[in-house]
Amino acid sequence: MLSEVQRATLETLCDTFVPPVESDTGDPVEKAFLARTAGDMRIAAQIEAMLADALTPEEVAHLGGLLDALAEQGLAAGVPVEACTQIVLGVRAASPEAKQGLTQLKGLTLLLFYGLPDESTGLNPNWEALGYPGPISAAPSPEQAPKTIALTEVSGEHVTLECDVCVVGSGAGGSVIAAEAARAGRSVLVLEAGQYRSEADFNQLELQGYSELYYGGGLATSEDGSISVLAGQTLGGGTVVNYMNCIPTPERITKEWTSHGIVGLGDHAAYCREHVDVVMQRLNANTEATTQNATHRKLMAALDELGHEHRPIVRNATPDDRAENCGYCAMGCQHGCKLSAMKTWLQDASDSGARAVVGCHAEKILVSDGQATGVQAGVTHADGSITGLTVEAPNVVVACGAIESPALLLRSGIGGPAVGKHLRLHPAYVVMGVYDEPIEGWSGQIQSLVSDVFEDLEGEYGFLIEATGMFPGLIGAIFPWSDGTTHKALMQSFRWQAPFITVARDHGSGEVVLDDLGRAVMRWGLGDEVDRRLAQRANVELCRLHRAAGAVEVFTAHAQELRWRSGEDFDSFLERVDAASYDPNDVACFTAHQMGSCRMGSDPSTSVADGRGELHDVRGVWIGDGSAFPTAPGVNPMISIMALAHRTAGELLDPA
Ligand SMILES: Cc1cc2nc3c(=O)[nH]c(=O)nc-3n(C[C@H](O)[C@H](O)[C@H](O)COP(=O)(O)OP(=O)(O)OC[C@H]3O[C@@H](n4cnc5c(N)ncnc54)[C@H](O)[C@@H]3O)c2cc1C
Repeated sequence: MLSEVQRATLETLCDTFVPPVESDTGDPVEKAFLARTAGDMRIAAQIEAMLADALTPEEVAHLGGLLDALAEQGLAAGVPVEACTQIVLGVRAASPEAKQGLTQLKGLTLLLFYGLPDESTGLNPNWEALGYPGPISAAPSPEQAPKTIALTEVSGEHVTLECDVCVVGSGAGGSVIAAEAARAGRSVLVLEAGQYRSEADFNQLELQGYSELYYGGGLATSEDGSISVLAGQTLGGGTVVNYMNCIPTPERITKEWTSHGIVGLGDHAAYCREHVDVVMQRLNANTEATTQNATHRKLMAALDELGHEHRPIVRNATPDDRAENCGYCAMGCQHGCKLSAMKTWLQDASDSGARAVVGCHAEKILVSDGQATGVQAGVTHADGSITGLTVEAPNVVVACGAIESPALLLRSGIGGPAVGKHLRLHPAYVVMGVYDEPIEGWSGQIQSLVSDVFEDLEGEYGFLIEATGMFPGLIGAIFPWSDGTTHKALMQSFRWQAPFITVARDHGSGEVVLDDLGRAVMRWGLGDEVDRRLAQRANVELCRLHRAAGAVEVFTAHAQELRWRSGEDFDSFLERVDAASYDPNDVACFTAHQMGSCRMGSDPSTSVADGRGELHDVRGVWIGDGSAFPTAPGVNPMISIMALAHRTAGELLDPA
C-alpha cells in the first residue's frame, strides 16, 4: 500500500508518538516500559495492514501525501526525537486535513501500543507498568454457555427466503419488534450485519472486542474526525456492549414528541405503563445490583461536596450481577448477567419461531407500487465468499441504528427529503482526575451513578454527569499528546485516574449522507452556538467535580495538554479550559447514542415516517430504532428506543 520511503516515514512517526524514554529508575518493569517504542511492537506494520483493508485508493493517496509532507520537513530515522516532535506538531498545524490525519495516526499508534496483546502471552507488555491486569477471568466453554438463538444458514450463490416481517438490525429497537411480531404469530426474519457472539466468545480483550463487536471496529468517526462513534455491530447491537444505564423517557420529551405528531405518547402515564414499564420489566431493570466502584465513589463525593443531587442508576442486570467483572463488559458480558437484547427480546423472538441471519448486510429495500416487497442483502461467510439473499416480505422494519438506517433508505431511494437529516448524537466529553490513592477504574461496574443537575443550562438543553471505565487502548489514544515522553508519564498514573463524563442533549444536528460506494458518511460539528457553549461548560464542570473530589491532578482530553496540578491556580486553569479550542481534532468527543436520522413526525418534508412509524412514502416500511426519535431525549436512550419500538410493534401488528 505504501512506498518504501512512506513506510519508513510511518515507522519514524510511530516512534515519535511512542519514543524511548531514558530513566534511572531501579524498577525493571517501569524501565522496560519507558524504553519500549512503537517499533518494538511493530506498530507501523500493524497500522499499514489495518488501513490496507479499510481505506479506499483515494484515502490511501491522502495518507501517502501526509507521510510525504512529514518526510519533506525532515522526519526520518536517526533524527532526534525532539526534532521529530516539532516536525509533527508543525505539519499538524498546517491544515485541518493534516491535523485530522495525524490525530488518526496518533490514535491508532497509541490504541495498539496499549491494547495489542502479545501473541505468546496474550497480554500487552505495557499493562504491568500501568498496573492493569488485563483479562481477569476466562470465558465459559461453549458447553457451559451454549448459543440458544435460532439462526438460518444460507449458502451458495443466491437464496430467496419469505416471511411476514423482515427486521433489519437486531439491536435495542429491532429486537423488540422481532419479539412482539413473533409472539403475535407472524413469521419473522432478522437480518444482522454482525455475528452471533455470546458469553463463550467474550475474552475481556479490548481490541478484540472492538473489532468483533463494534461498528467500524470501534474506529468510526464523523467525516472530519470531530466525533468518534461507539455503536454495536453484533447480534443484539449496542445492547451487548453498553453500560446498562436504564433511564425512562422523561415526560417533557414525550410531550415534545407528541407535538411532532408521534402517536401513543400523549398520555405519559399510559405510555409508561404500556411500554416503558414493559421493557424495564423484561430487562429486569433494577437498582439492587448497582454498586459504586472507586471512580463512582469519587464522583459521588464530588457531587455531594458541591451540593449537587445524584442517584444510583437502574441497570438491566440479573440479581447475581458480578460487579468485579463488570469493568470488562464493554467487550461483552462473560457471565450473562447483562440482560442485553440478545439475552431477552431476541431470545423471546427465537423461542416464538423467529430466525436470524447473521453476517448479513442489507443493501436495499425492495418496493413495488409504493408498498414494501422485501429486502436485498448479502451474507458474508468466514472464507470471504458472499451469498446473495432476497427476502420477500410485505413488512420491513428498518433498525440498523441511526448511522446505517438512513444509509439503507438512501440506497433504496425511499423515505423522502428528511432521510439522514436531524441526526442527534448526545456528544460526550471526558475529563480525568488523578487521585493520591489507587482507583483501578477497570474494576467494578462501568457506570453506576447519574446526576441531572446540569440538564437545563440552556432552556431544556444541558448535560448529564456520569462516569465511565478505564480501557488502556482507548484512553491512551485520547490522552493529550504534546510529546511522547509526557504522554508516557500521563499513562504511568493510569491506575490512579478516574474518568468523569458528560452526555449532552443536542440542540443542533448532524446528518448522514452516502459516499460514492453507497456507504454511510456522518457529518457533525459544533456549529450550533448552544452545543458549543455546552461543550465548554461540560469540560469546566467536570474539572470542578474532580477538584471537589480531591484530585491532585486534573486534565482534559484536548490534543494540547490542559492540566492542573495541586497547588496551581485552579481558576485560571478553568479559564483556559473554557477558552480552549473545541474544533475538530482539538479535543476528543464521543457519541455512544446515535438518534433521529429517520425521524417520525407529521410533516413529510421534515420527517421520514409518520407518527406511527411507517414511512410517509412507502407502505410496509417501518422505522424501529433510535433513528425514529424526533429530537434528542437528553438521557441514555436504550429504554426510550425499546419503549418506542414496543409501541411501533403494536401499530405494525394491529393497524387501527
Ligand atoms: C459503549 C456503549 C455504551 C452505551 N451505554 C448505554 C447505556 O448505559 N444506556 C443506554 O440507554 N444506552 C447506552 N448506549 C446506547 C444504546 O446501546 C444504543 O442507543 C442502542 O443500542 C441503539 O439501538 P438501535 O436499535 O438504534 O441500534 P443498535 O443497537 O446499534 O442496533 C443496530 C444493529 O443493526 C445492525 N446493522 C447495521 N446496518 C445493517 C445492515 N445494513 N444490515 C443488517 N444489519 C445492520 C448493526 O450491526 C447493529 O447490530 C451505549 C452504547 C454504546 C456503544
